Amino acid sequence: MTCKEAEAMITAYMEDALEIPELRSFVRHIDECPDCRDELEVRFLVYKGLQRLEEGEAFDLKHELDIKLAHTRGVVAIAYRVKIALVITGIVLSLVLVGVVLGILVL
Ligand SMILES: [Zn+2]
Repeated sequence: MTCKEAEAMITAYMEDALEIPELRSFVRHIDECPDCRDELEVRFLVYKGLQRLEEGEAFDLKHELDIKLAHTRGVVAIAYRVKIALVITGIVLSLVLVGVVLGILVL
């Protein structure tokens, strides 16, 4: 993912509007690119800050962003594990099917 693509996704990320594959690329880029991480922080502070000012609450937005990113990494990791499990299941089923077919041919 390029910086331009990552920046274009920031608003959607804050609105929880990204799908898992997009989230995965996005967080990976944010973790590796200090510039986009800074951009995300600034945009997050403005976006959430305005909301909170309206609500009149005390807040620690930097901490909230860290929590949100950690949560996203968890979601992405789980989705990735489910995908691997499905791929492995597919391979096992294919092998079983090949075994059955070969068994029928031998008999
Ligand atoms: Zn970047």
